[in-house]
Amino acid sequence: MIRSFKYLALTSLVLSISFLALTLLGSSSSSIRYKAFNKKRFVYLRDVASYYGLSCWVEKNRTFIHNKNKTWQITFIHDKKEVSFNGVKLYLTDSIFNQGVQSYMSEDDFWLTIDPLLRSKSLKKHSAKTIVIDPGHGGKDLGGNNRLANEKDLVLRMAKRTADLFRSRGYHVILTRSRDVNMALQERVNYAQSIGASLFISIHSNMAPSAKAAPSIHGLETFCMTPAGASSTHGGTSSVFMPGNRYDRNNVALAYEVHRSIISRTKSNDRGIKRARFLVLKQISCPAILIETGFLSHPREGPRLLTNAYQNAIATGIVEGVDNYYRRIRAMK
Ligand SMILES: [Zn+2]
Repeated sequence: MIRSFKYLALTSLVLSISFLALTLLGSSSSSIRYKAFNKKRFVYLRDVASYYGLSCWVEKNRTFIHNKNKTWQITFIHDKKEVSFNGVKLYLTDSIFNQGVQSYMSEDDFWLTIDPLLRSKSLKKHSAKTIVIDPGHGGKDLGGNNRLANEKDLVLRMAKRTADLFRSRGYHVILTRSRDVNMALQERVNYAQSIGASLFISIHSNMAPSAKAAPSIHGLETFCMTPAGASSTHGGTSSVFMPGNRYDRNNVALAYEVHRSIISRTKSNDRGIKRARFLVLKQISCPAILIETGFLSHPREGPRLLTNAYQNAIATGIVEGVDNYYRRIRAMK
């Protein structure tokens, strides 16, 4: 993505970003320098690591950040957006670039993806009063399908299981649809807003782009809203700040906790935490995620998605992930 460092060298600024809050992990440095490149700011990964009291080193095409006992391990791949964060795959909105011993991450990715995951205090505190679960599609809109099922029916079953489990843990849960009915995307958002949703979780299942590709594509993806001015994982950019951007930091923390938890339950292939401006994520004004629970089109994962065991694992993963998310928020002073 970044081809030349000559320009960077000419325009580089070394300034520092001051932090008011203390970090979760204990800080050892109070400033993070950045460089400007093509009017965009990139922070030094070494400074980021040092700020959180973590170590950083560069090896071949990767930059590693971790703590002593390796309970925090982040691996950045040079010239790629893909990051391994404590073993979970997530996509930044800009590629990491490297020059010798220094690697850089865009300031937006630092503030809106990495910092919220490392520092709970950067999250907005909010209630857990009403969890809204949104089973995708419905009625005439079948969604994806395989020989055994339609997506609209599968995700409704998953949503109901998830709701039951949430309720058994004392949460108040409402589904956008609890029957096989057609519901426009904006209608789902309006309904969630009208009942004062605290969290919005949309559940879907996926399809490969072609029958030929189907046998090779499987796994879990979790989407959250793309920050204003950033590129979505599969393309597209917009500088407009939408209602879904109000909780940018919380969105990624919620996505991370739920994604990580589902993967640990299902052992699914990790296709990563991604950014998209899907209408339901864009228009909602509470923390929100959209989960693609697996590929109906895959010869093994498709039938597996229909089993009780797998659906229970998804439901448990979602509920545990949300529990962990709220635990982080409650721990804030
Ligand atoms: Zn869908």
